[in-house]
Formats: sequence, C-alpha cells, structure tokens
Amino acid sequence: MKEALYYELIGDDKTGCRLCPHNCNIAAGKAGICGVRKNTGSKLFTGIYGEVTSIAMDPIEKKPLYHFFPSSKILSIGTKGCNLKCPYCQNWHISQNMEARTRYYAPEEIARTAVNNGSMGVAYTYSEPVIWIEYVLDTAMSAASMGLKNVMVTNGFINAKPLEDLLGVIDAMNIDLKTFNPDTFRKVHKGELEPVKDAIAIASKKGCHVEVTTLVVTGVNDGMNELGEIIDFIASIDRNIPWHISRYYPNYKYESPATDTGLIMSVYHEAVKSLNYVYCGNIPLSSAGSSTLCPACKTILIERRGYTTKIKGLKDGACEKCGYRTGIRH
Ligand code: SF4
Repeated sequence: MKEALYYELIGDDKTGCRLCPHNCNIAAGKAGICGVRKNTGSKLFTGIYGEVTSIAMDPIEKKPLYHFFPSSKILSIGTKGCNLKCPYCQNWHISQNMEARTRYYAPEEIARTAVNNGSMGVAYTYSEPVIWIEYVLDTAMSAASMGLKNVMVTNGFINAKPLEDLLGVIDAMNIDLKTFNPDTFRKVHKGELEPVKDAIAIASKKGCHVEVTTLVVTGVNDGMNELGEIIDFIASIDRNIPWHISRYYPNYKYESPATDTGLIMSVYHEAVKSLNYVYCGNIPLSSAGSSTLCPACKTILIERRGYTTKIKGLKDGACEKCGYRTGIRH
C-alpha cells in the first residue's frame, strides 16, 4: 500500500479523493467507487501501486493510436479496477474484478523491460490508468529518463490538476468519448460527460498527441444525431484529431446485438466531411477507414491491413506528394 496523491482529510477520519470527478468522500476502512483507493488510519492509500494484471508487447495500432509512431511496438501494462462501470466493458475481467491476479513490477523494471524488448515506450492501458496515477507518474518518469515515450489509453474521467500533472509526462493519449448524452453517461457509465470533453480539449491544447475513440454500442449511443454531435465536437477542437469508430460486440452484462456494420460505415461517411482522419475498428479488414490518406491529395500515406502497417508516402510528417503537414509523428 502506498499513500495516494490528490486527497484531503475531512474531519477526523474521512478522506476526500480528488483524483477523478466522483470526488469520493471515503469513510474510515472504506474504498472509493473505483475500489482501489482506501481510507486506512485517516490516510488515503492506493492498493494497486505496481500491481500489474496484464503485460504484453503490442502494436501501437492496437491502442488504438494510428498517428503516433505507426508500425512500432509498445510495452503495454494494465492494473485492475475502474472509476466507470460500463455494462458492456470489453476488459471487465480486470476492470470490474477486484480479485484479478496481479504481479508487482517496480517502475524501473517496467522501463528496463521496455528497453530490453526494443519498445518505443510504455502504454498504460487495458483497464483505466487514471486510478493508478501514482504508478503511472513514477513509471513514466523512469521511462522518459531512458528515452522512451509514454502513452495512455483512458476514459478521460479525471480532475484538472491530476490531468495537468499527467500531461507533464504523457506524450500521447487515446481518450474514449463514450457518448455525447450527459444522461446516458450518468445512467449507463456512472460518470459525467463534461470532464471527459474537458480532458480531450485540454490534452490537445497542451500539445499532447490525442486520438479519440467511440465504441458505437447498440441502443446506447448509436443515434446519428448524437454521433454527429461527437463529430462536431472533435472538429471544433481540431479536425486533424483522429477519430476511431469502433464496432461493439456483446460482452459483460450487455447482450444487445453487435453494432450494424452498415451504421459504422454511414457514420464514417458522415465524419469524413468534417474530420481529416476517421478509422473504423472491429470490422472486416478490407473495409474503408483503415489506411491513412492525405487530406489534400488523397495519396495513401500509411497502409494498414489488420495490424500490418506500411508507411508509404510520408516524410517528416508531411505528404511526400503534395507536402501537406499531417501532424503524424513517426
Ligand atoms: S479515483 Fe476512485 S476513489 Fe478517487 S474519486 Fe475517483 S472513484 Fe473515487
């Protein structure tokens, strides 16, 4: 157990966790909503510092990050617990299972493992990295000192100060935008929409490489109006932000049928009117929305088939044919 960051003492023995917008006020002996931050002896402790449930070398495209060192491999780690409760969670066996098995890795051990495996960096992913922020900060600093990049795959449900601290060490984020309906966010995911919108805007403005993912879930967020609002929101920040539209499959507690692929393609065709880079995930490999085209001259810049990626027409982040600056880091 390590003492947590971002909390205050309330009265004699309550602790107020200020890491995420739940702002849990936690009684003695109890844990917050995420289940991993506990009040013991009038102090808040994290029970998951260094406790890794999953570790693997993954293609960076699997995060998904398509514009950040494409075709590289990244050491990816995750813990257990989450501050949201999505009923269709694809990783529920670690995100919603406090009994998930873990193994302790010191931050330097992760950074060294990444170097020894030829990784371009460390990705904090699989479950929600915000809730083990103390470990992410330490590991990211260790990784950066060895010349590595740091990447987070997150739900973006975080308060401003911890987000600011993360942005000091995190080079790229994929942030989930699960819905654009505040009521759905509250009822289905058990969180609030506005802080997530803020996180996307702030991370992007502060120079972090940002990509956004929306899992289009049957009966949750699959209305064209709502998806159109997401498109407009991303475009209002920067039309160069890549948007990944991903097909949902039944999982965990949610049994509605998988998303109609026709709907995914309709959303894709709508999105490319306002956004420069739109990708479709979890659908057959030959479909549109996989490779990266130059927004100006439509030359293929990066060709993708599954997780096979070929950089074809890109030089120093610009289209080799017409010179358009894409913002892709490679
Ligand atoms: S990180 Fe956990 S304990 Fe802290 S406010 Fe969020 S849900 Fe509550």
